[in-house]
Amino acid sequence: MIRENRPGMRASPPLPPARAKTRCDALGVAPFSDRAGSLFRPWLGPAHRATLEQVAVWMREAGMTVAVDQAANIVGHYPGLTRDAPVLLLGSHLDSVENAGRYDGALGVMLGIEAVAHFHAAGRRFPFAIDVIGFGDEEGSRFPTYMIGSRAVAGCLLPVDPSLRDAAGVTLAEALAEWGQTIETLPLARRGRIAAYVEAHIEQAPHLERAGQALGVVRGIASQLRYRVRVTGQAAHAGTAMGERQDALAASAEGILAIERIGASGPPDLVTTVGVLTVAGGAPNVVAGDAVFSLDIRALDPTIRDGAAREIVEALDGVAVRRGVTVTFEREQDLSGARCDAALAAALAEAAERVTGQIPPSLVSQAGHDAMVMAHAAPMVMLFIRCAGGISHNPAESVAPEDVDAARDTLIGFIERFGVPA
Ligand SMILES: [Zn+2]
Repeated sequence: MIRENRPGMRASPPLPPARAKTRCDALGVAPFSDRAGSLFRPWLGPAHRATLEQVAVWMREAGMTVAVDQAANIVGHYPGLTRDAPVLLLGSHLDSVENAGRYDGALGVMLGIEAVAHFHAAGRRFPFAIDVIGFGDEEGSRFPTYMIGSRAVAGCLLPVDPSLRDAAGVTLAEALAEWGQTIETLPLARRGRIAAYVEAHIEQAPHLERAGQALGVVRGIASQLRYRVRVTGQAAHAGTAMGERQDALAASAEGILAIERIGASGPPDLVTTVGVLTVAGGAPNVVAGDAVFSLDIRALDPTIRDGAAREIVEALDGVAVRRGVTVTFEREQDLSGARCDAALAAALAEAAERVTGQIPPSLVSQAGHDAMVMAHAAPMVMLFIRCAGGISHNPAESVAPEDVDAARDTLIGFIERFGVPA
């Protein structure tokens, strides 16, 4: 139980309005970006290091002790009432894509710090510690890797090649060495005794904006399948009679429309996307002989996703037979999604409703997040914050100050009741 009215508890002075947002804005420029004039904060780079130094200052001001773990994650620790108290972990990622917005990732870390700052100012402790973590490598924007920071913490690292190189030719081993780490030390970042992981993040979709809601509670993160699809026909002169062609591009077009139709005919959280189409040797006067396109399939339920994949394979096989081309599928990625913990989601929804007066929508995240990795180590839940137009991975990324404060107050309310039987 939370002990109320403990000696030393005092009324908490209000936090500066939307400070989580203004701090993200401050982190949007050099030295917290490795680009002049835009935001790019790749994992283990100079901007990442400068960001951790600044975030450490804010964490200490909020009453936390600060450490950087073996995977270059920054961890602020706000002790609980006992030394061996379990840990409620709040966080998100601090790395970014190239030409990024300021709130994707960083906002979740800043909101965690604000929640702790609130309790620190009130002199309040809980039967659990509160740790705030800023992961790196969520975006995989420097090396062809993915979520190494959270994978190390959750204890589910995948084999990784230390000789992978970034765009400048620096190897992963060299980048880690600059931080005093190696591939072999990454697993030491693994954490135990995590009671729950809570990640606040901008929505990266327009559902909340359309619903007129500041906040949403995530019920799960979609599983993803990615293929490289090759359509092989016969390159021929544009004068070839229409009935004698094996046109790889026209066949791809028919296949892509079938993929769109299959995605649209499933449940709302099933989405199918072809984002890249390449025609080898394409020319205005040549019937295409070879086309390659990407295929991305996502759904919360992997059986729905896999069912759609089978339907797509059948549809494209039909196209191949009719048009005399061959179609091959090469699987490039199979990411399992994760369901949020139902009790945590209910508690977070109640906390959000107390703040906003609205029942927050239950959402499926189509984007991947550290939370899907952390689900391997602890029950987890995510809070989504409305972002203008659903735009992210873009300098136009925008959040409203009042939404940011609603998210902060929701986290505070959630923490106050965390671990208390309903
Ligand atoms: Zn993110």
